[in-house]
Amino acid sequence: MNIVDFQYFCYRCRTENKLPLPAPDAPDYHHTDLTCSNCGDATRVLLSSCPNDDCNQYVFWINDISIPDIVTGFAKYMVHNMQTMIDKAALQGAEISMDTPDKYPINASCPCGTDFSISITIPDLD
Ligand SMILES: [Zn+2]
Ligand SMILES: [Zn+2]
Repeated sequence: MNIVDFQYFCYRCRTENKLPLPAPDAPDYHHTDLTCSNCGDATRVLLSSCPNDDCNQYVFWINDISIPDIVTGFAKYMVHNMQTMIDKAALQGAEISMDTPDKYPINASCPCGTDFSISITIPDLD
């Protein structure tokens, strides 16, 4: 497991925050809450390390909203709407089947030239 010295500037008070965080190799990721050491503003970060063995960079996405929560919320919305469509198609005699993916990929490009994706696990929605 890679531990990186993650640093970011609070976008509310501009204070620089630094803390060690795990950054597993893609497609794994670490998702955590961050709290500004100065103003207490809360945000979230998702980190993942470049899977290239010769490279020690990492990528991150910082957001107020939890990315895994968005993916889960979106998946629920999709499944709900697909189900409505399937029910309607069934009324008209058509048959539709669908596979719900259990992973949602987020693509990233590392400055070393490696393209990779991290996989957000979509919980079972049945
Ligand atoms: Zn702050
Ligand atoms: Zn890289």
